[in-house]
Amino acid sequence: MSASGLLSIRREVVNGLSVDVEDWFQVGAFEDVIERGDWDGLATRVERNVNEILDMFDEAEVKATFFTLGWVAKRNAALMRRIAERGHEVASHGWDHARVHTMDRAEFGEDIRKARIEIEDAAGVAVTGYRAPSFSIDRRTPWAYLELAEQGYAYSSSVAPIAHDHYGWREAPRFAFKPLPWLDLVEIPVTTAEFAGKRLAAGGGGFFRVLPYAFSRWAIRQVNRRDHRPAVFYFHPWEIDPGQPRVAGAPLKSRLRHYTKLDTMADKLRQLVKEFRWGRMDLLAHREAMRAEDLAA
Ligand SMILES: [Zn+2]
Repeated sequence: MSASGLLSIRREVVNGLSVDVEDWFQVGAFEDVIERGDWDGLATRVERNVNEILDMFDEAEVKATFFTLGWVAKRNAALMRRIAERGHEVASHGWDHARVHTMDRAEFGEDIRKARIEIEDAAGVAVTGYRAPSFSIDRRTPWAYLELAEQGYAYSSSVAPIAHDHYGWREAPRFAFKPLPWLDLVEIPVTTAEFAGKRLAAGGGGFFRVLPYAFSRWAIRQVNRRDHRPAVFYFHPWEIDPGQPRVAGAPLKSRLRHYTKLDTMADKLRQLVKEFRWGRMDLLAHREAMRAEDLAA
């Protein structure tokens, strides 16, 4: 290989790839239509969908982080072990998708404690990362990072630094930061791109599914090549599943957002994981923490 070839490989940024492991009936958009108490009676699709994702990642030789609900881990122990055995990180997405800003500190502490016990028991590995349901850590939850640090978490990826109708903390930094300067805990926000002075959501989920692939390619290239920083991308198992049951009573806007382009999502993801370099969030958090120390020194 030529010297310039080696150089370009070394310069290529390793991005963070993540899956928020929840079933089709656990999404924020349907929380007013489907009661938590009814979840156990619904047809679960999460295992078949995660299995498909594991095969996709193996094929592309990428490792990722699976932020999993404690509720799901408790009922899918074999799946949790399989994720860990195939070299991926298993991390926490909280207990049952309650948003952080709907809880007080004590309730939040209980939520993440309970989730972690179930996830660690099921997967047989230590959990060091957390992603808030619906990116719900924001200016209303100043105690959340204290609680995460106290419970020994190394990192969080729980902030969307944009304004959005369901979530967002628009004043937050775009890239990894230490929310409490005296603690090691790192927050790694989901990716945004900049266009005409505005921040655009570009870290996955519905935006990736609904917009043309070229938008995500442009955004991740901007982050990697212009900003020289890693992108943080996420999606959900139900997003690759056109066969999931339809929720009739949900608002039209939620249904449009949830069911659009489920059939082309898997192919888009295959292209994405092949086109860029990806890795686990815990390794990314470690690199970002070292960088923060370098900057502080
Ligand atoms: Zn979620």
